[in-house]
Amino acid sequence: MPSRGKDDLEVVVVGAGAAGIGAAMRLAAARVTFAVFEARDRVGGRAHTIADAPFPLDLGCGWLHSADRNPWTRIAAEAGFTIDKTVPAWATQSFDLGFSAEDQAAFALASRRFHERLEAVASNDTDFAAGELLEPQCRFNPLLNAISSYVNGVELNLVSVQDSNRYADTGVNWRVAEGYGAAIAAQAAGLPIRLNCPVTIIDHRGTGLAIETALGTATADAVILTVPTPVIAAQGIGFRPELTDKAAVASVLPLGLADKLVMAVDTPEMLPMDGHLIGNPNVTATGSYHLRPFGRPLIEGFFGGRLAHELEAAGPGAFFDFAVAELVELFGSGIRARLRPLVETGWARDPFARGSYSYALPGHADARAALAAPVDGRIFFAGEACSRRDFTTAHGAYLTGIEAADEVIGLRPRRI
Ligand SMILES: Cc1cc2nc3c(=O)[nH]c(=O)nc-3n(C[C@H](O)[C@H](O)[C@H](O)COP(=O)(O)OP(=O)(O)OC[C@H]3O[C@@H](n4cnc5c(N)ncnc54)[C@H](O)[C@@H]3O)c2cc1C
Repeated sequence: MPSRGKDDLEVVVVGAGAAGIGAAMRLAAARVTFAVFEARDRVGGRAHTIADAPFPLDLGCGWLHSADRNPWTRIAAEAGFTIDKTVPAWATQSFDLGFSAEDQAAFALASRRFHERLEAVASNDTDFAAGELLEPQCRFNPLLNAISSYVNGVELNLVSVQDSNRYADTGVNWRVAEGYGAAIAAQAAGLPIRLNCPVTIIDHRGTGLAIETALGTATADAVILTVPTPVIAAQGIGFRPELTDKAAVASVLPLGLADKLVMAVDTPEMLPMDGHLIGNPNVTATGSYHLRPFGRPLIEGFFGGRLAHELEAAGPGAFFDFAVAELVELFGSGIRARLRPLVETGWARDPFARGSYSYALPGHADARAALAAPVDGRIFFAGEACSRRDFTTAHGAYLTGIEAADEVIGLRPRRI
């Protein structure tokens, strides 16, 4: 085998998020000649812990969903990260503030019935929007939509019932005290990753692939593309010749939006550790507030769907103003002076994410498999949107990266 130069590779992985890092870990273990081209000046993608705040803060993924079978749980623990197994308080309202115990019980029942109707849709039934399963006039529909905006990044009228039913969740949710993003990024150490290297074109006309980037052109036998779906749909990375089918399936798997706002809170002992509040249970445009995460003097606000888009568009400080107004309604005006904004996200305006996590438009649940299908035995696709059962998550992304790398490695003896 002739030796290869720095820009003549067996495999190029595009994107160093959870999927790209997973693929790279596998390729490195198999001693493949490869490089990861990452557009940003950091690894991790939508997994991003910032360490310069008073505490490590996860701006993207924070929860090890399906933690009892989530591969990142073991990887993080083996790397010395602290796994926190505190049960999330999402279904509770601390002090019953603004949401009486009776109403919470009535909502829990309405939510259970909604999910029973959803799960009753047979896998061979036609696909339609989950919003059609809402009971007309039910007073809890706004809150069911708010919860969908956190979970799916969109309200229920845009959620495919078939896709939703395929999601696999063990119901076990843990966290990483030092940050989920930090645990994922730590795995990138020592891997051949080129930062500030946005890929612009993948030319697949010749016998080898030419990968054009801001730092020059590399050649490879195979590429594993892990970028978010809007980048493919909007041809932020172009193909020569064009892959119109891939752009089409990516466009029916858009990214929903979820944004976070972390606030410091004075006299935190007045709030329960790892408590939770819904800002206003009567409307869809409301935040979910995690009180004192890990017992820290913080409140983490979570905003989804249309509300998150509106607050991003309103400019810096809008998330904080909105959160303060909701918390003043619940606690009284005294809370205003106790809150200070630390950081807010803007995932929709981030050009290398363009949103938070993928959802399948009604009628398009099968698009995930279509997106994941390789082209020509040498252009492979990975990333959370390609996962059939663990989409939207960092572990789903990782597993698709491993799968794509295994396919490439399986093809390798024939290709070289
Ligand atoms: C606010 C928020 C909360 C979340 N909460 C959770 C949670 O609690 N638990 C959970 O499991 N998941 C959560 N997620 C989702 C999770 O973060 C993602 O599903 C996962 O990180 C996606 O990984 P990925 O590798 O598929 O994509 P990405 O992480 O987006 O990686 C793709 C990479 O490609 C790069 N890229 C883009 N364009 C180019 C280009 N042209 N050239 C080269 N590189 C490019 C990007 O910079 C990025 O690094 C959350 C996400 C957000 C935003």
